[in-house]
Amino acid sequence: MTYAVKAEASSNISPQEFTQRVLSWYHQHGRKDLPWQKNITPYRVWISEIMLQQTQVATVIPYFAKFMKRFPSLKSLAEAPVDDVLSHWSGLGYYARARNLHKCAQTVVSEFAGRFPKSVDELETLPGIGRSTAGAIATISMGLSAPILDGNVKRVLARHFAVEGWPGKTAVHNALWDIAEAHTPDSDCNHYTQAMMDLGATLCTRTKPDCKRCPLVSTCIAEKQNRQLEFPGKKPKVDKPVKQSVFLIIQSKNGNLLLEQRPPQGIWGGLWSFLEQPLNTPINADLSPEEWLDLAHPQLQSINLKIDSVEIWPGFRHTFSHYHLDIYPLLITLESPPNTINEKQQQWLAPAEALELGLAAPVTKLLKRLSNHSGNLNLF
Ligand code: SF4
Repeated sequence: MTYAVKAEASSNISPQEFTQRVLSWYHQHGRKDLPWQKNITPYRVWISEIMLQQTQVATVIPYFAKFMKRFPSLKSLAEAPVDDVLSHWSGLGYYARARNLHKCAQTVVSEFAGRFPKSVDELETLPGIGRSTAGAIATISMGLSAPILDGNVKRVLARHFAVEGWPGKTAVHNALWDIAEAHTPDSDCNHYTQAMMDLGATLCTRTKPDCKRCPLVSTCIAEKQNRQLEFPGKKPKVDKPVKQSVFLIIQSKNGNLLLEQRPPQGIWGGLWSFLEQPLNTPINADLSPEEWLDLAHPQLQSINLKIDSVEIWPGFRHTFSHYHLDIYPLLITLESPPNTINEKQQQWLAPAEALELGLAAPVTKLLKRLSNHSGNLNLF
């Protein structure tokens, strides 16, 4: 067999033998008691697959349990307010996944009478479901035969067949899909899918592949060449840009905090956060915090904040996939609440109540910092 992208001769193994070895290994060693492997339904498999994207199994397990308790069916998810879905996702990151889950549930209810369609092509039309997730739902919960190519499977195939290059490149991506397709069995595909995921997650791991125990070791090209860690190829390095932002932790005398819901699009879409301002005026020791605030955020005067004190807290960096955000938190304690508040998008909440909302990750961090705050962090 030849592939579009390769540097070495293809591994000397037929697709049937490859599948057979993977399946025998799975029946002996695969994981069979993960929460989503019980009471298998398309709904449960779909939720687990979306949670497992970019997230480890151990992290997902408690989230999955909590999510299933609150949204036991597709209908309950479709009918829930999106805020509720986001708050059950809080901490898992990549929040577009949670918004898409909600949208997808509503689409399945409105366009497919509440049942997931039984073909990969139709599954792929749903919000947030790509080809690999569609394949996993179709094989694991519907007994169909379809290839998958999640991060774990990509790693196993790239190493075993020595597929050079970064899988983000179309040619490499297509070559891996071709291999995945060629090795997908017509029957027992649910176990094969699970087996490939397990192989990648438990033996062919990112940094320490346990090749001695791998059922594919005798034909694995990367192992033969001792180049396991070179596959899959790394993304070419580009320096991420750095943005800077001030988080205004506005606190009233009784300890309540002003939180604002972010617009649905963009980073942390739909989550609750402190008021955020771009850092236009450098923070420096020549200015008192009040002078700095006046200069940097004159718009705050328009909501008539009666400020009792201002503290500048140590900044920290939050990294997204495409840029770094340097966050400068500012604790502003008020004498009295402002005259106006946009009640649709802003609310005053006690810190414990705030923790119940779907929060941007740095906000959770700052709320924890606030609970340990000694009142003596003024850096001026
Ligand atoms: S032999 Fe090693 S590198 Fe090759 S597929 Fe198995 S675990 Fe991965």
